[in-house]
Amino acid sequence: MSEEMFKELQELLGENFTTSTAARYAYSSDASIYRAMPDAVARPMNTEEVSKIVKLANKYKVPITPRGAGTGLCGAAVPIKGGITLDMQAMNKIKSITPENLFCIVEPGVIYDHLNNELKSAGYQFPGSPGSAEAANIGGMVSLNASGMRAIKYGATRDYVLGLEVVLPTGEIMKVGTHTLKNSSGYQLEKLFVGSEGTLGIITEVTLKIVALPKAVAAALVSFDKVEKAGQAISNIIAHPIIPSSMEIMDNTCITAANRGIDAGLPDVPAILIIEVDGPIEEVGREIRQVEEVCKASGATEIIVSDDKAVYGLWHEARKSVLPALGGYSPELKIVSLADDMGVPISRVAQAVIGFKEISDRNKVIIATYGHASDGNLHTKFLIDPSKEDDWKRAEKAVEEIYDLVLSLDGTVTGEHGVGMAKAPYMKKERATAIKTMKAIKDALDPNNIMNPGKMFEWESEHIMFSLRYPAEVNFDE
Ligand SMILES: Cc1cc2nc3c(=O)[nH]c(=O)nc-3n(C[C@H](O)[C@H](O)[C@H](O)COP(=O)(O)OP(=O)(O)OC[C@H]3O[C@@H](n4cnc5c(N)ncnc54)[C@H](O)[C@@H]3O)c2cc1C
Repeated sequence: MSEEMFKELQELLGENFTTSTAARYAYSSDASIYRAMPDAVARPMNTEEVSKIVKLANKYKVPITPRGAGTGLCGAAVPIKGGITLDMQAMNKIKSITPENLFCIVEPGVIYDHLNNELKSAGYQFPGSPGSAEAANIGGMVSLNASGMRAIKYGATRDYVLGLEVVLPTGEIMKVGTHTLKNSSGYQLEKLFVGSEGTLGIITEVTLKIVALPKAVAAALVSFDKVEKAGQAISNIIAHPIIPSSMEIMDNTCITAANRGIDAGLPDVPAILIIEVDGPIEEVGREIRQVEEVCKASGATEIIVSDDKAVYGLWHEARKSVLPALGGYSPELKIVSLADDMGVPISRVAQAVIGFKEISDRNKVIIATYGHASDGNLHTKFLIDPSKEDDWKRAEKAVEEIYDLVLSLDGTVTGEHGVGMAKAPYMKKERATAIKTMKAIKDALDPNNIMNPGKMFEWESEHIMFSLRYPAEVNFDE
């Protein structure tokens, strides 16, 4: 960054602009395996400041990587080409909640749980339910099209974005979408920015659809002596037809980790499903009984049903604890997010889970599998010793085999975490015929390629094990 640009940014932002090594290090990684240092960190307070920063970056051709809470698992917020990391967390106002319009208007730095706490008092929700709900920002969620366990019934973030205010890579401020529930007025540009991972512009305001909270909830904890039977139960429930509000699968590695981590008391079996239904009271009672019958017919070995929030809340907690709990699975091993977010057609969940186990055994690497089975979205977490090169090599081979399997099952390499760096080479395989058009859109909006460069289809390496954050070497005396 030139001296001139540095001075201009300092004048504009004062203490909200820094090039200190400590700050740059703090912003050099997210929840992925990657690390790359930005040259500077800027923390804008409003849209006008964002616009001025972007105009400067465009003039001096310096990369900008927007960032929310930094909980992304694919390295999308890691500034692989350096430049400025734009921390959007200070823009965190809930501007309005109007249940009579069925939407709310928020700044991008609003945290998912904070928004839902406010919506709850009006009887409403934004039902994305990511596992990172306590931290994930709405801007980050829109940029990755995040979702969670309730997507089967309520959809993903994309389905809730009615309108956006965006600062384009030229610094121009653009409004897309509307404040209406429907519109047919031209290209749906608001949807283009969903899942764009900060490569097309910076989101400075979001108009989000909201839905009423359900009147009642009930859930079932269902045990299986074989993963195949759990997979069959999932397909049978959907085909019945019952559309649950969530249906989560956990394999035995995840069950063990949750039991050790939070003393969850889950049954020690090869696989469990945690199935939730919601809606009007009478319907919930009827549906949970149907779930029970279908699971029994599918070979469940034990079924516990409850409409007590204290009971099913603990099951959900156990499921949410899987990622952190796997961290304590073994003192030598660390969890790494490699092939972590595949999607397959619902009827192929069992095939995928069995395939992951075979890949794990063949490559001698522990792979824990869990996820949003109801919509076919499966998460795996690898447990390896990151100081051992051989562990990385075996893991990389397993990753490749997992993605090949998923694509052969007509699936996607990412259901909700995004591409960033971790999925980039495989996304190129999956979207081979669409890459040219994606690139044309990027070139048209961002001719100087300043917005989050080097990600998705711009990924230059054949490998995903690149620019790793292990070991964390940095000279703080610089
Ligand atoms: C324990 C754990 C559980 C998780 N569970 C889930 C889950 O269930 N479902 C799920 O979908 N994800 C999950 N995630 C991943 C992650 O939390 C979500 O994807 C989340 O939406 C990321 O939000 P963030 O604010 O942290 O974004 P960041 O990681 O900061 O950024 C993500 C991307 O958005 C871009 N970006 C951020 N703000 C803006 C903006 N204002 N304008 C333009 N671009 C922007 C960044 O450049 C980057 O490309 C989980 C992560 C963890 C650690």
